[in-house]
Amino acid sequence: MDSYKIRSAAHASGIRLDAEQSEQLAIYGDLLLAENKKYNLTRISGEEELVYEHFIDSCYGVAIAGRSGAAELLDLGSGAGFPGVPIKIFCPQLKLYLLEASRKKIAFLQLLAQKLALKEVFFLQGRAEEIGRREGREAYAWVTARAVAPLMVLAELALPLVRRGGYFWAFKGPAAGLELKEAEEIIARCGGVLLEEISYRLPPRGRERHILIFEKVEEAEDRFPRRVGIPQKRPLRKL
Ligand code: SAH
Repeated sequence: MDSYKIRSAAHASGIRLDAEQSEQLAIYGDLLLAENKKYNLTRISGEEELVYEHFIDSCYGVAIAGRSGAAELLDLGSGAGFPGVPIKIFCPQLKLYLLEASRKKIAFLQLLAQKLALKEVFFLQGRAEEIGRREGREAYAWVTARAVAPLMVLAELALPLVRRGGYFWAFKGPAAGLELKEAEEIIARCGGVLLEEISYRLPPRGRERHILIFEKVEEAEDRFPRRVGIPQKRPLRKL
């Protein structure tokens, strides 16, 4: 991909990248487009979609709101690396943990980190329900997740991983407000409080995006997250 084009598209959205960062995104794009043909890692129809819907969407919130001083980030259900890897490229000092259930996607992420020569990236292959009951419980200063599950499910997976005083960023589409209502009870029981919402539209079609930022103010109740599959099967819906 053309790193200059990526750089100017990012600048037009208020995201300032240097030459090295734009080059890393270009390499990321090439690798993803090539590997996607073999393994179907994510849905992308072309380069423009990749730039806006994946790279810019991943970095926008961090570029405008900063990252709350956290030195580490866990990206839950990272898939082909979103939003965790573009955020790491944007903030190279960050320690990045990629949590992903699929082995095939972890293999892609490992290859990607190697090609981009990223330092301090760690791979956790497994389920958030399990890691959130064990070594990952109340462990991370900052957790992100995009396109993993509705918020009432996602909050149960993500908030137990966040350390007290840390943050969870849920990347959401136009249904963010509704999802937030449905998730009120599980958010509270997992110790989260809504702190801020970042709303924006993605060029070129103006797709509506919201990042809901939660602060972890208390420990999650012991019973959360429930066993693998239960948060999805029996979400604690409020409405
Ligand atoms: N965040 C990426 C990928 C979204 S697809 C993006 O925005 O493009 C959702 C990903 O989450 C899949 O790769 C799936 O394997 C992973 N996933 C879903 N539930 C999970 C869980 N409970 N624990 C870990 N990974 C999970």
